[in-house]
Amino acid sequence: MSFTFIQKFVTESTRFPYTSAFVLAFITVAVAAVRFRRLSKPTSFTMSSSSVNDPVQRNRIFSSKLYFDVPRSKVPIIYSESYDISFLGIEKLHPFDSSKWGRVCRFLVSFGVLDKKCIVEPLEASKDDLLVHVNTFCYMEWKMICELKVNFLTAHLSEEEKVPFLKNVATIIEVPPVGLFPNCLVQQKVLHPFRKQVGGTILSAKLAKERGWAINVGGGFHHCSAEKGGGFCAYADISLCIHFALVRLNISRVMIIDLDAHQGNGHETDFAYDSRVYILDMYNPGIYPLDYEARNYINQKVEVKSGTLTEDYLQKLDEALEVAGRSFDPELIVYNAGTDILDGDPLGRLKISPDGITLRDEKVFRFAREKNIPIVMLTSGGYMKSSARVIADSIVNLSKKCLIEDKQDS
Ligand SMILES: [Zn+2]
Repeated sequence: MSFTFIQKFVTESTRFPYTSAFVLAFITVAVAAVRFRRLSKPTSFTMSSSSVNDPVQRNRIFSSKLYFDVPRSKVPIIYSESYDISFLGIEKLHPFDSSKWGRVCRFLVSFGVLDKKCIVEPLEASKDDLLVHVNTFCYMEWKMICELKVNFLTAHLSEEEKVPFLKNVATIIEVPPVGLFPNCLVQQKVLHPFRKQVGGTILSAKLAKERGWAINVGGGFHHCSAEKGGGFCAYADISLCIHFALVRLNISRVMIIDLDAHQGNGHETDFAYDSRVYILDMYNPGIYPLDYEARNYINQKVEVKSGTLTEDYLQKLDEALEVAGRSFDPELIVYNAGTDILDGDPLGRLKISPDGITLRDEKVFRFAREKNIPIVMLTSGGYMKSSARVIADSIVNLSKKCLIEDKQDS
């Protein structure tokens, strides 16, 4: 635990005295307990990635409940109140706005463009859903945390061996003290929201196929691959969404347009040698994750350096879409629409204006519309307090430009 964290915690405690006192007491006890444990080397359970050609994996996809039928009275905007992360007030210490997803929907409802009753609520991705695309972390997480007391694997583990895995959860979501909380609390407060968002991303492809478009007001965990998580991404929702779509939607070509400020190394690693998936990634090459190997797997790489301005960015996007359109003929587009390209975002380090983000989204939706390709949009990174409003404004613009109108016949 860093000194700066404690310092910030003490400052914040004056605003949230009861919650913080409880959290501080808990952390003190937990730190003491952990300190007296002898940590042993974590047990390694390495699993290789399985292809969805594997009958077991295909069976998991076909028996999944995530692809349920959505009535025509609903609009293909997917959200659940469970998306938002709250952790006994501790989330307020984090620089991220971990309730941006709910704020996007509240803006849309207050602007009168969305009726709360028309929002599609997804199901939570289950263990079997997550194992469709074998993710070592998911596997560890389920085995080590959720089913800790009942799974045979844990019977072989000492208390000391479980601690590294709880710490792994904390590293991925970048809130270090979370690693010291009880398993059930981590599950309920952090991993459950993520799994709901995964369910939303997977469902969005089915809805996009039926209606022409779908927006999951969450998801876009593009740093997580089948093998590992990182950078606020605990589950590989983009890869899972594509695997489900390839098996269940009778399609064979998918384009990922990743315009989050960060390189999407998770899906790049997962689809490294898969010619069914074309990846256009526009990212800042000087920031996380600096995954040089995954960069080799990008079909069209557009690097935008720190400080890039709106006009330059949009011109590069025009050119990139032009090239993508000539190079590949997709049957589904997965658009990772991170807003961390926004001017002032401390992580993205680009200088794109809010209007620039609105224009960016419009260009991508127009690209899909002109080619009549179903498009899924995920909100991905961008957790400044202003991000939610920027996303909502952009969705309003898409609606005004008739780029997300409801298709009458499916
Ligand atoms: Zn990002």
